[in-house]
Amino acid sequence: MTDVYQRLAHHLDRLPAGYPATENGVELRILQRLFTADEAEIALCLTMMPEPAASIAERSGRDSNTLAPQLDQMSRKGLIYRSTKGGLPYYMAAQFVIGIWEYHLNDLDEALIRDVNEYLPLLMKENWTKQETKQLRVVPVAQSVSAEMRTMPYEVAEEIIRSQSKIVVSPCICRKEHEMVGKGCGKPSEVCLSFGGGAYYYEENGLGRAISKEEALDKLRIGMAAGLVLQPGNAKKPTNICMCCGCCCQVLKNLKTLDSPAKVVHTNYYAEVIADNCIACEACVDRCQMDAITVDDVARINAERCIGCGLCVPECPNDALVMHRKKADEQYEPPANVVETYVNMAKERGLM
Ligand code: SF4
Ligand code: SF4
Ligand code: SF4
Repeated sequence: MTDVYQRLAHHLDRLPAGYPATENGVELRILQRLFTADEAEIALCLTMMPEPAASIAERSGRDSNTLAPQLDQMSRKGLIYRSTKGGLPYYMAAQFVIGIWEYHLNDLDEALIRDVNEYLPLLMKENWTKQETKQLRVVPVAQSVSAEMRTMPYEVAEEIIRSQSKIVVSPCICRKEHEMVGKGCGKPSEVCLSFGGGAYYYEENGLGRAISKEEALDKLRIGMAAGLVLQPGNAKKPTNICMCCGCCCQVLKNLKTLDSPAKVVHTNYYAEVIADNCIACEACVDRCQMDAITVDDVARINAERCIGCGLCVPECPNDALVMHRKKADEQYEPPANVVETYVNMAKERGLM
C-alpha cells in the first residue's frame, strides 16, 4: 500500500487549490511534520462538503464515538476545517493554502518554515498562476479611487467590512514566519481579517480575536498607511481580506518574480502617470509592491506589472498619479461566493 502521506498529498492535490508533487518530496516532509499517520488516514476520508462526524464514520467504516473527538482535535490543530450547523459540528477537508498552512499560525518552527518556503513557489508556479480563477483578488485602496469613478461594493474594502456581522483579526502568518527566521519587514502584523464562519473557526482555534467593524476599519487604515496591498477573497462575498506586502506575502512575492504579474491577478484597475504633474520625487517607487514604477525624468508605470492596488496614488505629493478602471470587456466579476470560487477552480483543473 502506498505510504499514507503520499496518499494524503494526492488527496490534497485533488482539492481545488491543489498540492502538486515535487521531485525531492518536500511536500511529503511538510505533511509528516503536520499530521500523525492516524490523522492522515482520517483526513483522507474528508471531502470539501461539510459533514457531521456520524456521516464520515458511516462512509469510512469507523466508529462514530471514537471518530468524533479525533475530528474535533484535528480541526483544532488546523488539519481540517470545522463549522457549526444547528449546534452540531461539521467537518470538511482543508486545502493546503489557503487553509492548513494558515491555520498553523501558532505552530511554526524553522524547519517547517524552510520547507514551506521551498514548496510554495512551486505551488504558485504549477497551480496559482496557471489557474484562471484565483483564491484572492486585488482591490484598490479607497484614497486612490476618485468619487466619479464607478466602483462595485465588492471592490471597496470598507463596504465589505461594513457588511459583516462577525469579524476576527489575526496576525499575518507570512510576516510572522519571515520574522521568525530573521527576514521580517516590520510591517503591521495583526491585520488579517476573517469573516463569518471562518472568523468563528479562527477565534475558537485561538488564531485571532473578534473585533468590531470600527476596529476592522482602523486595521484597514493601519494597513493602508503601511503600504499593504488589499487582497480580499475572490468572491463578491469574501470570507477574508488579506493586507499584504510584496516581501513576505507568499502570493505577492512569487507574483513579483514574473514579468507580467498584472496578467495573473484579478484586478479591475491600473495606475497612470500624469507626466506634466510629475516632479520625479520618487516617493511612489517604494510604495509599489510590484516594482512597477521607475523614475528618470518622470515616473513611468510598467502596465504589465501594475496590479491596480492604488497604493502609489495617495503617496504622490503633486497629484501626478491616477487610477483608471479597465475597459468593460476586461472587467473581472468575481464569483458570487467562495463555494462558487472553489467549484470554478475544481472545474478548471478537471476535477469535476
Ligand atoms: S496573504 Fe497577505 S495578509 Fe495573508 S498572511 Fe500572507 S501577507 Fe499576510
Ligand atoms: S503602480 Fe504599483 S502601487 Fe501603483 S497601482 Fe500599480 S501596482 Fe499598485
Ligand atoms: S510620487 Fe508623484 S511626483 Fe513623485 S515621482 Fe511618483 S508620480 Fe512623480
